[in-house]
Amino acid sequence: MQFQTEVNQLLQLMIHSLYSNKEIFLRELISNASDALDKLNFLSVSDDAYKNLKFEPKIEIKLDKDAKTLSISDNGIGMNEKDMIENLGTIAKSGTKSFLENLSGDIKKDSQLIGQFGVGFYSAFMVADKIEVLSKKALDEKAYLWSSDASGYEIKEDKKEEQGTVVILHLKDEEFLNSYRIESIVEKYSNHIQFPIFMEKEEYIAPEGDEKEGKNELKISQINKANALWRMQKSSLKAEDYERFYEQNFHDSNKPLLHIHTKSEGKLEYNSLFFIPSKAPFDLFRVDYQSGLKLYVKRVFISDDDKELLPTYLRFVRGIIDVEDLPLNVSREILQENQILKAVKESSVKKILSELEKLKEKDKDKYLEFFKLFGKVLKEGLYGFGENKDKLLKLMLYKTTKAENLRSLEEYKNDIQKEQKEIFYITGNNENLLKTSPLLEEYKQKDVEVLLLADEIDSLIMPMLNEFEGLKFTAINQVENKNELSDEEKQNFAPLLAQFKELLKDEVEDVRLTSRLSDSPSCIVYDKNKPDFAMQQLLKQMGQEQEVKPILELNPKHSIFTKLKENQSFTPDIATLVLNMAKLSEGMGIDNPAQFNQILGKIITKALA
Ligand code: ADP
Ligand code: MG
Repeated sequence: MQFQTEVNQLLQLMIHSLYSNKEIFLRELISNASDALDKLNFLSVSDDAYKNLKFEPKIEIKLDKDAKTLSISDNGIGMNEKDMIENLGTIAKSGTKSFLENLSGDIKKDSQLIGQFGVGFYSAFMVADKIEVLSKKALDEKAYLWSSDASGYEIKEDKKEEQGTVVILHLKDEEFLNSYRIESIVEKYSNHIQFPIFMEKEEYIAPEGDEKEGKNELKISQINKANALWRMQKSSLKAEDYERFYEQNFHDSNKPLLHIHTKSEGKLEYNSLFFIPSKAPFDLFRVDYQSGLKLYVKRVFISDDDKELLPTYLRFVRGIIDVEDLPLNVSREILQENQILKAVKESSVKKILSELEKLKEKDKDKYLEFFKLFGKVLKEGLYGFGENKDKLLKLMLYKTTKAENLRSLEEYKNDIQKEQKEIFYITGNNENLLKTSPLLEEYKQKDVEVLLLADEIDSLIMPMLNEFEGLKFTAINQVENKNELSDEEKQNFAPLLAQFKELLKDEVEDVRLTSRLSDSPSCIVYDKNKPDFAMQQLLKQMGQEQEVKPILELNPKHSIFTKLKENQSFTPDIATLVLNMAKLSEGMGIDNPAQFNQILGKIITKALA
């Protein structure tokens, strides 16, 4: 039979380009064997049809130096003919598809991707020119032999005693016929696979007291630890153990930034082990992102695609949750509603957030690294009425007018002016533009710090936030100006203001005098109950267009206006320019650029005359 096109593509790649790190084939095959054991384990406790099936889950590796074969067997779920065609002839898994999409053609980079995506079974063709898979599905009578030399495959009926699968690799060279080599690969990648891995190997056996009289004997022994690391005592584990475990189980060769290991006893009994990666997962901002969490019940693997285990704003977290008090034989739909699982989720979120808080206090640099990777995702948690808002706010870091580096709200609060009751912010989609906004002039002058929020999501979230520790969040483009102008100034300016209002009545809601500006002639603000420009844009994206005209504020002290009072022939042109200048400095764009340019040209010519 023919392989699916994608499989061929993948096989060609395996055979011809990805030479480095061939040894990972063993990890992949062992992980498949372990998956198969997990599946049968699960069925044997949850499905009556499998109740009588007594089996002791194990994986076995055999080396045959004469035949130059390496075989890996398991007594797990097994495959029938149809399974073989579907699983070993096509690529259905999204992980593998993403792998192919992400290929760069650069051999080094691509071979790292193998590890990241775990492309699995086919990686065995890196070391074997022929592969046979003998398998019998649990409860079935018939067994099948699948064989392939990578150009296509064949399936025949065959015989096998116990349920499960044997994968026989006809090795290209002898590198992997060495039992010590195999043992060290297993130690490196598969030590914590929860099932025992056995291998026949030579051991030097000597009678007691007579070390020299011994000889080499073949013995079958277990070569992995087979302990579920997440159930071990924290005190017995080193950072290295966690790092290894992370690499083996989450296919990421970059050390994690942080691990969080919790044993909860008493009312709610569970073990959890979470990792924060040091590189963002490739699908972090994709709607169809993969969950990084594995759910176990009493050591039995249940699922690794349950996105409900943690809220989406923690979707970068990798890890394991192993719960004691859940029934195994409930459907996933019921699991979602399960009160115990809900409680585990809640306390896991609390734990993760408080560990992040600790990291922030203890190791600011590392926290910064974390925040640059995942701060944007974490921010999503501020949307709506989340119960952990206060905790999340404490974890936020922001660009501000005060310093080059990111600052926390606590730092903002500590440096606040005595009479200040607000946290001021400005939103927009361009940080550089924000920094130069005329609206900041007043705050700079008074030395008041303003948060510069350039993430798109900020304009959505900020209006939903009330306060942080008694300080009210306030958008500076929605603060009403106290207008500290003298009566005389106001009176002098009244005719010009009226003219502006009339000229611009189609484009703005109002024109006002302001005392908030020092250098700029004009600025744009909004009524505090109406969406500002950034928010309007966001609403538009969501299909809820809502046009709100801006309010134009004029700085009567600016030379444009002092001069304009003397020479009024240019008033209509200046009105348009002044409005557009304010719009530009807020990143809004001009409605009629041709007209703008024409006026500007006219004025330049006049200035040069
Ligand atoms: P993945 O493990 O990511 O699904 P693989 O390429 O490693 O992808 O394996 C493909 C599929 O082949 C597995 O999902 C599984 O259905 C099947 N398979 C592979 N090895 C075994 C095995 N030892 N026992 C049962 N099924 C297996
Ligand atoms: Mg696999």
